[in-house]
Amino acid sequence: MKTRCSFCDDHAIYVLKSRKIRLCKKHFIDYVRTEVENTIYRFEMLKNVKKLLIAVSGGKDSVTMLHILHQVCKELNIEMLGLVIDTGIGEFSRRQVDVAITLFKMFKIDYRVESFSSYGIDILRPDLERKVRRPPCSICGIAKRYIMNKVAIEENCQAIATGHNMIDIAQYAIANILTGNVEYLRKLLPKTEEGPKMARRIRPLYFIDEKETKLYVETLRLPYVSETCPLAHKRDTMQDTVRMFVRELEDKHPGSIRHFVEKLSNKIINMLPMEEDRYSTCKICGMPSKGEICSFCKIRMALRE
Ligand code: SF4
Ligand code: ZN
Ligand code: ZN
Repeated sequence: MKTRCSFCDDHAIYVLKSRKIRLCKKHFIDYVRTEVENTIYRFEMLKNVKKLLIAVSGGKDSVTMLHILHQVCKELNIEMLGLVIDTGIGEFSRRQVDVAITLFKMFKIDYRVESFSSYGIDILRPDLERKVRRPPCSICGIAKRYIMNKVAIEENCQAIATGHNMIDIAQYAIANILTGNVEYLRKLLPKTEEGPKMARRIRPLYFIDEKETKLYVETLRLPYVSETCPLAHKRDTMQDTVRMFVRELEDKHPGSIRHFVEKLSNKIINMLPMEEDRYSTCKICGMPSKGEICSFCKIRMALRE
């Protein structure tokens, strides 16, 4: 027997266990959109934003975010610029770029394609880890964050939207608590403040489960990259273990991770001392840096040696 939606007579496709409701296609899409819009308004993510840079990897999360933000920005008359970064990981990256461009064209959004190779970064280089003394995912993360911010500054975008979901946020937060890097928790707010040559970062999917973004793109038949990065096996195994724990906790105790990220965003982070603004300017590229030379320039220098 088919299960009915809690709000209409249609067949339910999703059970929101934490709220004990069942949702049909229409009510599920409405639920995700409303959650994302509420997060945007509650944290004033788009306040004073005239132009928004939206970083799209082509995965289910960024595609969901793009689909919702494109409507929100239209209503608020905010200009959008899409960004896709070609990380140079063979067929996987080519597919990411193709999907992102297809979506930018579908939504009539101007876009930029940036590639690691144009910055001298070859993430598949066999001697990469030996030269840089960092695992590929760390290099990839630093390079993506740098490029996103650089493009935002060049294009006069006041904010950058990224597709981190609730499970990502909980994973990063717990992993940082376990390793004692509590000061890093401030970087996990739904919105981080802008500074000189540093655009605001916003995370509209802060309260959305990864299962919901998958169902969202599949229900709306939006193109997305379902493959996993071939370098994913090189990720920090502790992070993977924490992720499995977060997933299991949310599945066995629905709503527990949402409760955690809620507390993280309004209570835990406020209990931490304010981090002083210790940013100066990288003497090579002129972008914000905690040291004399920023991490991105250090990576590029190591690869040139
Ligand atoms: Fe980059 Fe690692 Fe993610 Fe692959 S798995 S895209 S290398 S961060
Ligand atoms: Zn319904
Ligand atoms: Zn630099």
